[in-house]
Amino acid sequence: MAETSLSTKFVHAGERLSAPAGVPAATPIYASSSFVYERVEDIDRIVEGETSGFVYSRYGNPTVAAFESAMAELEGGSFAYAFGSGMAAIHASLLACELSPGSVILASKDLYGSTFELLQTVFGTFDVKTLTEDFNNIAALRAKAYEVRPSVMLCETLSNPLLKVCDIAEIAEIAQEISARLIVDNTFATPYLCRPLQHGADFVVHSATKYLGGHADATGGIVIGKEEFDKPALLGALTLAGGVLSPWEAHSLLRGIKTLGLRMERQCGNAERLATRLRSLPQISEVIYPKFFNSDQKGTLASTFGEQGFGAIITIRLLDDTREAAYGFLNSLNLCTRAASVGDLFTGIVHPATATHRELSPRKREEIGITEGLIRISVGIEDIEDIYADIEQALNTSICCRSGKFSSPVASPHFPAMNVF
Ligand code: PLP
Repeated sequence: MAETSLSTKFVHAGERLSAPAGVPAATPIYASSSFVYERVEDIDRIVEGETSGFVYSRYGNPTVAAFESAMAELEGGSFAYAFGSGMAAIHASLLACELSPGSVILASKDLYGSTFELLQTVFGTFDVKTLTEDFNNIAALRAKAYEVRPSVMLCETLSNPLLKVCDIAEIAEIAQEISARLIVDNTFATPYLCRPLQHGADFVVHSATKYLGGHADATGGIVIGKEEFDKPALLGALTLAGGVLSPWEAHSLLRGIKTLGLRMERQCGNAERLATRLRSLPQISEVIYPKFFNSDQKGTLASTFGEQGFGAIITIRLLDDTREAAYGFLNSLNLCTRAASVGDLFTGIVHPATATHRELSPRKREEIGITEGLIRISVGIEDIEDIYADIEQALNTSICCRSGKFSSPVASPHFPAMNVF
């Protein structure tokens, strides 16, 4: 090739060297939107699907593909596609079910608020109707499913924030009987506790932003499919709607899942110990944690989670079941973070009535048990004694504040008060 000018060298120098010998021990970040080949026919063959390879990152990227491959293996699926957020993943999984005007989605009444909004607003606009049912009442669910004949059934393995555990196998049986597709959001349980495809679900979705990433530094989502025949529809939803995951985020998520087993083991163990101790605090009227389920629910728990534990989220109801008491408590915490997320390696505490379920009317919230004094604790990997001590002091401090005419709650110098939504 002829000698090029300096301005051309600025553009091309050092790029597209041959790949180094040896496979990198950790997947590199392929921060490239497109991929270059010797001959244009090579690109043709890849686009035609005759050979594998990457052409354009919206259609596939090696770092993202590594994350997808890891998640397909962890959930026991035949393929996985990654998205820019959990909501994008849920949206795509629904598109892959080929809904059309008049179709019905039968959703758990305990769904995450934004998922419910997605169904009602985005899908509702296209005349797809969403109906809800209690997915923990199998008899009622079967009756409703036979009555309304949904195309899709959608639930969460572990509900937010009331921690109801779904019997995925029983729900999948109903879905199969009426030829509905079953989508399970496994964000809170993770494959450490449950692998819904093994129980008969068609798709598993995750907000990878939560436990999969685990470090509060990446936003992403993933859909894992059980059957190969669903792959083209999901790939279409990914590449045409275009909500792809960036290779930078994929790298963080890949690193996150390497410690998922360790984190979950520690976080579930911490949660079990903390939940037991919180039960003895007089300022708390109820500690919701799957370990304390009654004997009926214990069967569901065993069939869904097996022996792996009870999860790492605890929900408490304050004896003084008011927003004032809840805010007083939250603002008195020094160590636990007021973070609008779950599944991070630090303990994060949220007020569901004004965060995850903010968009519901107060009456609707009351109806489903989300009262003003309800608090969700996502237990981290810290020394649980420190977390217990922080919660205990915050309960005592906020009660003192209140009995002293409730001066405005004191924000910690290290963790200033923030809006949680
Ligand atoms: N599913 C569940 C159970 C969630 O809690 C969330 C977010 O909180 C989502 C999905 C949406 O995930 P993302 O925020 O990554 O879009």
